[in-house]
Amino acid sequence: MKTLKIAIQKSGRLNEKSVELLKNCGLSFDNYKSSLISPVSNFPLEILFLRDDDIPEYVQDGIADIGLVGENVIAETGVDVAYLQRLGFGKCTLKIAVPNQSDFKTVSDLSGKSIATSYPVILQNFLDKEGISADIKTISGSVEIAPGLGLADAIFDIVSTGGTLRSNGLKPFADVMASEAILIGRKGEETNPLILELLQRIQSVMRAKETKYVVLNVEKINLDKILALLPGVKSPSVLPLAEEGWVAVHTVIPERDFWSHINELKTAGAQGIVVMPIEKIIL
Ligand code: ATP
Ligand code: ZN
Repeated sequence: MKTLKIAIQKSGRLNEKSVELLKNCGLSFDNYKSSLISPVSNFPLEILFLRDDDIPEYVQDGIADIGLVGENVIAETGVDVAYLQRLGFGKCTLKIAVPNQSDFKTVSDLSGKSIATSYPVILQNFLDKEGISADIKTISGSVEIAPGLGLADAIFDIVSTGGTLRSNGLKPFADVMASEAILIGRKGEETNPLILELLQRIQSVMRAKETKYVVLNVEKINLDKILALLPGVKSPSVLPLAEEGWVAVHTVIPERDFWSHINELKTAGAQGIVVMPIEKIIL
């Protein structure tokens, strides 16, 4: 079978998580910063390390079969690719921001104003949708200093915590797009068995990340209360303990409401609660 090629970011915000995800899928490869291409020794796959901006086009043109890149970069390059899987990392929002002292009230107040950005395509699409005509100034980096320099009235950029905006005297004004890392493929190739196999591995790693394995001890008289609190993957396992009248309960609970679960379980009589990470969940 033909070796699959996956493009990931060579260095930057998505690199580490991308490498970690592939390693968690059981793929074994060298991650030398100097190499552009790394063969995987235990799966028919080669990893191409690229600038993130090039990844969507490489996938569209078939130089790579699949790629791992931010949704914002896909939108900006305007390629037509298949979304195979949202990956839940590299989350950010693309926002229009304005100087703290500015008196813009609604998005239409941006009419006739200048907006500095590294994402002119996404911004233009947004302005078109809102029926606003503004002057887009495309710059490649440090967009947030543009208003201070008198280069633009507003900016459009990636914001995660807002710290960079604040330190440049800017405030968020309008959310335009939410983005996260996505696994993309070429349209029509979604049924390639190697892609499906890799996708299945990625999904099992992601499912495992969202859940924890929990073991706890409880007195049999409190068991029903505990079981009522545990949704579990299927039903929880209940094993007798050496101490008469006590059992151990093994189950899997979602990470997202972890603390509320644990506190409820304690109140219901759970003791010696042990929480463990899960590596993979195969359904
Ligand atoms: P490259 O050298 O590969 O072109 P880059 O400098 O364009 O890298 P990075 O800053 O590494 O890009 O960001 C890569 C992606 O990470 C972004 O396109 C976006 O999808 C995502 N991301 C998540 N949070 C942030 C953030 N706070 N700032 C910038 N990008 C973020
Ligand atoms: Zn880039």
